[in-house]
Amino acid sequence: AALDCTAEVDGSVHAYLHVDAEGALAQAAASDDRRAAGQPASPLDGVPVAVKDVLATQGLPTTCGSRILEGWRPPYDATVVTRLRAAGLPILGKTNMDEFAMGSSTEHSAYGPTHNPWDLDRIPGGSGGGSAAAVASFQAPLALGTDTGGSIRQPGAVTGTVGMKPTYGAVSRYGLVALANSLDQVGPVTRTVEDAAMLHEVIGGHDPRDSTSVEQPLTGLLDAARQGAQGDLTGVRVGVIRELGGEGYQAGVLTRFTETVDLLVGAGAEVVEVSCPSFEHALAAYYLILPAEASSNLAKFDAMRYGLRVLPEGVDSPSAEQVMRASRDAGFGDEVKRRIMIGTYALSSGYYDAYYGQAQKVRTLISRDFAAAFEQVDVLVSPTAPTTAFKLGEKLDDPIAMYLNDLATIPANLAGLPGISVPSGLADEDGLPAGFQVLAPALADDRCYRVGAAAE
Ligand code: GLN
Repeated sequence: AALDCTAEVDGSVHAYLHVDAEGALAQAAASDDRRAAGQPASPLDGVPVAVKDVLATQGLPTTCGSRILEGWRPPYDATVVTRLRAAGLPILGKTNMDEFAMGSSTEHSAYGPTHNPWDLDRIPGGSGGGSAAAVASFQAPLALGTDTGGSIRQPGAVTGTVGMKPTYGAVSRYGLVALANSLDQVGPVTRTVEDAAMLHEVIGGHDPRDSTSVEQPLTGLLDAARQGAQGDLTGVRVGVIRELGGEGYQAGVLTRFTETVDLLVGAGAEVVEVSCPSFEHALAAYYLILPAEASSNLAKFDAMRYGLRVLPEGVDSPSAEQVMRASRDAGFGDEVKRRIMIGTYALSSGYYDAYYGQAQKVRTLISRDFAAAFEQVDVLVSPTAPTTAFKLGEKLDDPIAMYLNDLATIPANLAGLPGISVPSGLADEDGLPAGFQVLAPALADDRCYRVGAAAE
């Protein structure tokens, strides 16, 4: 049914970069056999899943939305993909994304943008717009995304789906092509909070292949979601973040946000306003730390090891450096080049302290704001994104306007905390989905599921 839906709608949505119909059907048949024998591999055995194209899938193309990886088929699976296979979930294909996960609209994909299923002239968010659009258009009941600065949650918000960024280290990054190692996290993209919790339980847990993987297993996520779905939040303290609302936020997004907060009050939650004053610097710090890490990570695309190799024109025996230059020039898009330049500059001697060092200090202040807030409350809430989906092309030539979409999602990445976006309804002015974000302390991912399910 999922593949039929793709055949029908993906010509206009373009959620996928690659569909593996044959592989998915073979896995589904194996799943049918296990179920017939009464031995499903997991509760999700046979439920198909779409995978963001930044995760390595053995034998299947993995491009990260970039020309530089065109044609590359990894020789191994990311740990999360291994876990999907072990749990019996057929993999439908690889979803579109902004190149190397840089962007908030999926327009920076080298293979053309994804369209928002709610209005095909609008963006599906980014960088994981493909995963969100696949789920929103019923091409897949489940998908995986990655969230470095909001790329699971913001696409969730603007497509009316659920997106969860787990605690940093709670889900393995092995086989995730790194954008910014200290910020990246893999997580579920689904239609309900309970589905997200089930998928999270499949992909989560310690992995010795990821040096930042947390030892402690996170259990009880589905139970927490089910508890929240009962609508009882007695004794739960909820903090509304003063700095993430008001100016710069669309009126209809704020109205749905306030109504959702009222819903939580109705469920018995205690709601207070809390202040996180350093958050106003989060965006600036992120857009130094991310390019710094990304510029270093992308150095490995040297035209020798993977994908694209372009020979410079008019040179008889080009040097390795000439081949590298020509390949990177042709293989990377504008946003990637912009961030490599910013990152390299910020890391260069003489500027390191002024930019990178300063941004790291801001990062510490943000963590302290969170720590102080979580002394007063159990979870923090905000709108996920300041606006509903904007028109394709609207912000493409204005990087700062594009970056401003990440205002509310970035603080959680800088502090390594879990956060979920759940649909809060349609904004009055444009009838498009808005998102409600729930943030929790590190390793308290269950609270996101509990409060998220109550807010749903
Ligand atoms: N919009 C963010 C950026 O462009 C999203 C990054 C991400 O989460 N992959 O950096």
